[in-house]
Order: sequence, then structure tokens, then C-alpha cells
Amino acid sequence: MTTVGILGGGQLARMMALAGAPLGLRFLVLDHVPDACAGQCAPMLLGDYSDPAALAQFAERIDVATFDFENVPAEAAQWLTGRVPVFPNPRALATAQDRLAEKTLFRDLGIPVPPFAAVETHAQLCEAVAAIGTPCILKTRRLGYDGKGQFRLKTPADIDAAWAALGPQAASVGLILEGFVAFQRELSVVAVRGRDGEFRAWPLTENWHVDGVLSASLAPAPVDEALRDGALAHARKLAEALDYVGVFALELFCRDGELLANEMAPRVHNSGHWTIEGSETSQFENHLRAVLGLPLGATRPIGHACMLNWIGDLPDATAVLREAGGHWHDYGKSPRPGRKVGHATLRADSRQALADALRRVGEALGRQAQVAPVIARLG
Ligand code: ATP
Ligand code: MG
Ligand code: MG
Repeated sequence: MTTVGILGGGQLARMMALAGAPLGLRFLVLDHVPDACAGQCAPMLLGDYSDPAALAQFAERIDVATFDFENVPAEAAQWLTGRVPVFPNPRALATAQDRLAEKTLFRDLGIPVPPFAAVETHAQLCEAVAAIGTPCILKTRRLGYDGKGQFRLKTPADIDAAWAALGPQAASVGLILEGFVAFQRELSVVAVRGRDGEFRAWPLTENWHVDGVLSASLAPAPVDEALRDGALAHARKLAEALDYVGVFALELFCRDGELLANEMAPRVHNSGHWTIEGSETSQFENHLRAVLGLPLGATRPIGHACMLNWIGDLPDATAVLREAGGHWHDYGKSPRPGRKVGHATLRADSRQALADALRRVGEALGRQAQVAPVIARLG
């Protein structure tokens, strides 16, 4: 009996545990929040990632460790490495935790990125804005998620407001200024690399964000082959450079047919949730196969899929469940503004049928605005 230890007990750990059950896997989730939602589906150890006693107890009870949460302190991951196999490796985790290290690696690998500069002081912010130009975005280097820890500057007159908002965090988490990309589309590559170096990617996913939070994903994204091959080549190069094992996502902006890398997530990713019903092997199952050294499953899509995120609270499930290809995911979390509490995936055999299902669901739930850009893309 193999026990997989997961650091972090959110919905990603929960879906991993659900995917691992048919494989006969046991799980142990480490989280400091007593009602972490993965705890409803897997045994949980209550403790802090940076508490050596909790980590020691965790390590003793597991055969391999992985993450649901990318901001586990790199030292904790490193400490675990001495006791159990840890995938992805701590270097990959540390790189993805720091936007500056991440963007520097992308650039070094020849993966195009928006212009960027590290910012430590108000004076450096002024220099960076002068060099990069406006519009631009000031972001925390570490610990940002769902668009948190970001300030958009429309003109140089916004410098003081940006510094007032994020300057106080400059010393603790670091800051980075990035050029604003006037992209037409956002795409992500969700891919997996095995312990033996085998690389597989799911079809490209197109994503729509609202207020910096993922709202909808469509896969396979309607893109031409050259764009898809370019995106996959970037992801593969990145995985090989980091000796990455497991599933990861590479977020890309597409501007005038050109791809620019935004960030990577060193874990299963929200833009890959559609793979549960929309592909031969889900991202969750393939992540487990990868970290356990098992053969990777096929990543081919089954028809066309759209995932809709439920943020804040869950709508009524009936309209989705009524659809032939409708699937409901309730993470078992209490409602809270901005919180990801569930998602739905609609799957269909054709783009037209998927658009029709989205239209029905959007209307029934009063979420026309959420489905509209996806329907437009399918049309
Ligand atoms: P995630 O939840 O994906 O981890 P995050 O907090 O790490 O989010 P980003 O992915 O950097 O933040 O930004 C969130 C969204 O904000 C992006 O998906 C994109 O829509 C927009 N955005 C971020 N950076 C830029 C940029 N340089 N130019 C244009 N839009 C951007
Ligand atoms: Mg991020
Ligand atoms: Mg992102």
C-alpha cells in the first residue's frame, strides 16, 4: 500500500485523492487549517509546513510527497527531500515561487516574456517605469495568487499609488514590474513529465480571467498547429531545464500570434480541471502516475470541454446536471467572496453542441457574461 503525502489540503489535493482511489493509493494531507476541504476525502494531519515536528510526523507516514500548494517554504521541501522522494523537486518549486527567478529562467531558455525588472525601492520603481513604459503591472515576487498582490499602472502618475499599495511588502516578498501585454487571448499548457523524463501535454487550453481570477477554460483551444507546437515546445524546454516531475501549467499570453510566458504553476492547475471528464487521463491521475514512477496515461481529449469556475458561492447544480455532458464539482468549502468553491465541466462531441449547452446553462444560472466569451470563441 502506497501513501502519497500532499502538502496543502485545498481542492487540488482533494481532486488528487479522488483520482488516486481507483489506483489503490492512500493519502495523507498536511495542512494547518482544520477544515481544509481535502480532509473530507483523505486523512489529514493538522500542522504547519514550517513546523519541523509536524513535517517529521508527516514524513514518517508517507512514501512520496507532493504539493497542492506552491508556496510551501522551499526549506520545508528541502528538508523532506532528505527523508522521502519529493516531486516536483525543491529547485523547481523555488523557481516557480519567485516571479523574478521564473521570468529570468524563461528568458534564459529563449521563451519570450514581457519586459520585467526587479524593484526594491521607490526610486527603482521610477527607473523601471521609465525603462518599461506604461501601461505596466507591479506585482509581488512571491505569494501572489488569483491576481492578489498586483497593481496596474496606466501612466507614470500612478507610481505613488502603486508604491503605497505594494511598497510596504517590498522587503518581505520582493516586487517586480512587468510590461502590460495587450493580448488577444490567454492560453495555458498543462503538461506532465515522468520520472523517466517522458513528456506529455494535454491540448492547449484557452482561459478567461475576471478580476485576475480564472473564470472559464476551453479545451482544446481553437489554435493553429504552429502556435500549439510553439507553446508545447516552451513547456517541454522548461520541464527539462527544471528536471520537473509531475504536472505543471505554463500560462501564456497570445498577442498578434506571438506567445509570451506569464508564469508557471508547479502543480496541477485550475486550467486543467476539464481533463477530469474531457480527456483520457486527468491531470490529477497523471500527476500521481508521474510522482510514483508509473507509466503516464494518454492525454488525448474526448470531445470539447469547457470548465466554469464558481467563485464566492455555488449556483444551483440542476441546470448543469441536466446536460448530457454536464459534470459538477462541489469542493465542500463554505462560501466567501473571491473563494473558489467549485466548478462545472460541460463536455460535448462538437463545438456547436458545447456552445448550445453553455448557452442553456448560462441562461439558467444568470451567468450569461461568464459563458459569453467562450460561446463567441466556439462560434
Ligand atoms: P494565478 O491565480 O494564475 O496564479 P497570479 O496571482 O499568479 O494568478 P498572474 O497570473 O500573474 O497572477 O495574473 C493574473 C491575470 O492578470 C493574468 O491571467 C492576466 O489576465 C492578467 N495579467 C497578469 N500579468 C499581466 C501582464 N503583464 N499583462 C497583461 N495582463 C496581465
Ligand atoms: Mg500564479
Ligand atoms: Mg496566473
